[in-house]
Amino acid sequence: MIKVRFAPSPTGYLHIGGARTALFNWMYARAQKGIFVLRIEDTDQIRSKKEYEEEILKSMKWLGMDWDELYYQSQRFDIYREKAEQLVKEGKAYLDNGAILLKTPKREVKFTDLIRGDICFDTTNFVTRDADGNAITGEDGADVLKDEVLMKADGSPAYSFCCVVDDALMEISTVIRGEDHISNTPKQIIMYDALGFKPPKFAHLPLIMGEEGGRLSKRHGAVAVSDYRRQGFLPDALVNYLMLLGWSPGGDQEIISMKNALQKFSIKKINKTAAVFSLEKLGWVNAQYIKNKDINELTDSILNFMKEKEFETAGVTKEQLKEVVKLYKSRMHTFVEFFDRADFIFKDDFKFDDGVQEQYLKQYHVRESFDLLAQKLANLTTFDLKSSEEAFKDVVSKMNITTSDLVHPVRVALTGKTVGPGLFETMVVLGKEKTVARLKKHF
Ligand code: GLU
Repeated sequence: MIKVRFAPSPTGYLHIGGARTALFNWMYARAQKGIFVLRIEDTDQIRSKKEYEEEILKSMKWLGMDWDELYYQSQRFDIYREKAEQLVKEGKAYLDNGAILLKTPKREVKFTDLIRGDICFDTTNFVTRDADGNAITGEDGADVLKDEVLMKADGSPAYSFCCVVDDALMEISTVIRGEDHISNTPKQIIMYDALGFKPPKFAHLPLIMGEEGGRLSKRHGAVAVSDYRRQGFLPDALVNYLMLLGWSPGGDQEIISMKNALQKFSIKKINKTAAVFSLEKLGWVNAQYIKNKDINELTDSILNFMKEKEFETAGVTKEQLKEVVKLYKSRMHTFVEFFDRADFIFKDDFKFDDGVQEQYLKQYHVRESFDLLAQKLANLTTFDLKSSEEAFKDVVSKMNITTSDLVHPVRVALTGKTVGPGLFETMVVLGKEKTVARLKKHF
């Protein structure tokens, strides 16, 4: 039976690295019809915070990862204490200054990592090596593995020990976690042995690096999953992108549904080499998901997003919003970008891009042609693509100017920008009254 767990410490928000670890565990469980455990590792009572825990659960749900079992280590202190005392009774651990320490034997610890292959660790040398003898962590002669604290003097259990006790008692078959935990594995295997448990299989995921090199750290605020939610990324798109950080469905495929991904997912195909996180690529993936999303669903997602952000909508109805979304569907990377570009729909005091008023609205013909156009548009009984375009063409010919002489100033007056969707589509979405009123401001 496949049973895996995601074991976040609620000492910070769920960040990209944690979400990727959660996802690979979840995918493995779902692909193998196994069990996915969520275990909150809140043993550090000072650094663990309720708000982090809530955000982790919320982000997991938002990303579509459901769990079959949920545990809190803070509720299991008695179990860890009992196991530590058992080791003392058996002579494998001892008391020292109020703490319980495990006697570390002098030996080699070997395990086969499902991603990295054979790993060998010498407790007298503190170096973890791969099958070719290359050091993965540690330096030759740097240190030796000291006797490991199991229970601290303040009565709280040590993180590594809780993890082992829980993985064993919860019958976790495979531990899939970040590569930063690879150096914990030998000492944890020693604990499994001391407790008389069979260690699980291990799979250590490659690090995630920033594009400019160096580790993508959770200290960089923007890497929290909730930040991506707030910027208007779609959860499916983020999940799709996370999947590509260390794994590939094969070929050049980059956009893949969860259903297909689950059919193809295998731990053995996860890369050993570090993955590089690219915001630009994530934006591209999100744009693909937005483009391909059903217009009604997309409008609903944007409405929810607006509600959450308490966005001022100038009384725009769902039907009107849908028309705006249609115009921008294939032009946006995120919802925040959408509101940035389409701000003129939602408010009358929208921003003008730098310099565009001087450049376009001060041209010699603007006053007169805007006046004419406003009159013609105001007189239309049906205000649609065809009629607005005809009115526009009339003005161009009466004024003896070119189409582009008028397109740019009108667009600037209506939207504050020089680029955007088609001018007549924009007018129709904006409606006759607003279109006319905005033209009138400039003559
Ligand atoms: N609680 C640990 C962390 O958040 C994970 C421990 C593990 O996966 O073994 O880094």
